[in-house]
Amino acid sequence: MTKAAPRLFLTNTLTRAKEEFRPLDWRGDAVPEAERRVRMYVCGPTVYDFAHIGNARPVIVFDVLFRLLRHLYGETGVTYARNITDVDDKINARAARDFPDLPLNDAIARVTEKTAAQFHRDVAALGCLPPTVEPRATAFVAPRADGLPDMISMIETLIAKGHAYVAAGEVLFDVASMPAYGALSHRKLEDQQAGARVAVEAHKKNPADFVLWKLSGANEPGWDSPWGRGRPGWHIECSVMSAAYLGQTFDIHGGGLDLIFPHHENEIAQSCCAHGTERMAEVWMHNGFVQVEGRKMSKSEGNFVTIADVLETDKVGGRRWPGEAVRLLMLKTHYREPIDFTAAKLDEAVRELDRWERSARAAGDMGEAEPDPVFLEAVCDDLALSSAIARVHALFDDGKAAEALGSLRLLGIDPVREQALRPDVAERIARRLDLLKARDFAAADALRDELAGEGVLLKDGKDPATGERVTTWEIRR
Ligand SMILES: [Zn+2]
Repeated sequence: MTKAAPRLFLTNTLTRAKEEFRPLDWRGDAVPEAERRVRMYVCGPTVYDFAHIGNARPVIVFDVLFRLLRHLYGETGVTYARNITDVDDKINARAARDFPDLPLNDAIARVTEKTAAQFHRDVAALGCLPPTVEPRATAFVAPRADGLPDMISMIETLIAKGHAYVAAGEVLFDVASMPAYGALSHRKLEDQQAGARVAVEAHKKNPADFVLWKLSGANEPGWDSPWGRGRPGWHIECSVMSAAYLGQTFDIHGGGLDLIFPHHENEIAQSCCAHGTERMAEVWMHNGFVQVEGRKMSKSEGNFVTIADVLETDKVGGRRWPGEAVRLLMLKTHYREPIDFTAAKLDEAVRELDRWERSARAAGDMGEAEPDPVFLEAVCDDLALSSAIARVHALFDDGKAAEALGSLRLLGIDPVREQALRPDVAERIARRLDLLKARDFAAADALRDELAGEGVLLKDGKDPATGERVTTWEIRR
């Protein structure tokens, strides 16, 4: 560790226990200190549509963990990889629908570029740092010039080792070839067979066998392979890209609860069987579900909410919400618990941010100190953020604004940042006062409205000593 720090505890889905976190590179002396890295992988978006509010949760949760790890192990001591899935049948369907006049591959490129750019805008507005690396699946299908792992080679290895077979134009993973299959989700193969209601696809040895490779039609994207022109299954990309950037065994693998089975179980099967390792990742972390206004989110229910809906339209609660309020709402519920995403809770988060900003101004202290030790200990206790945030309130109440702000910064929240973002506010207020003196009221009002549109509210008053007009301002979130 780079500094004296509290011990970090994380709940591991693999063991169903809260364990002390000990990064692989720090065990023993095999890795020189300067080369040690905490290595974390989180499954990223499939880029065919706007990310919904449920997609925002793992991005925010693991951003906080990324920030905490950087605090504990140094800014360059953490490698965080989050992929972009840019090959998927849902992408193909969307491309054909939205760009019917373009060749499919061009249409796919349009859809994935546009959607990835929107995703980056969304998560930046939610205060998330970019990951250290953000590999795209399509760059890892065929063997690479730089020799990093690729999907076709990993599938060949799995076949050679007896863990995969070719049938009816597909390459399938043979789950029965792996005795430990089901360890993450705690599902036994026999239970799955007994409980399987779907008809067994005739070409599969076992109904749980999953696709590593499938053939592409002439109109579908495809890569040449030993099994014909085709495309990879979803699971194999994460096994390959995590190995490429983090190695065959790494520290933390994260994602939403819905990914435990089959996605993460299958990632483990592929990686451990291809590499001959016991574990793919030491710690598996999963965040809980998000529902909206008390109901499961679904397009047919009409309560499907995208990140852009919340930030850029008035569809939720009749107004646009700042990204920081969405972030705070998400962090106030423990990451493993379900969240009910409501306009009322967004409003509560806005009021909390306002209160912190007022406290910081009242204390006259906009500086930042190191995170408070009691706060940090709560964050290190499996991200117990409701206790950590309660501590922030107590710090503000005690007039310790710098410690409170320094603590919030570790969560990627800065209630006074907006002032720094608007250095020209003072200049525009002075210009408006000049316009008022010149009795150009229309221009002065236009300037006031312009600022109001940016959430800056002006208050006019009189200087008690000189009787001159003075204008103060505040941010309305
Ligand atoms: Zn994945």
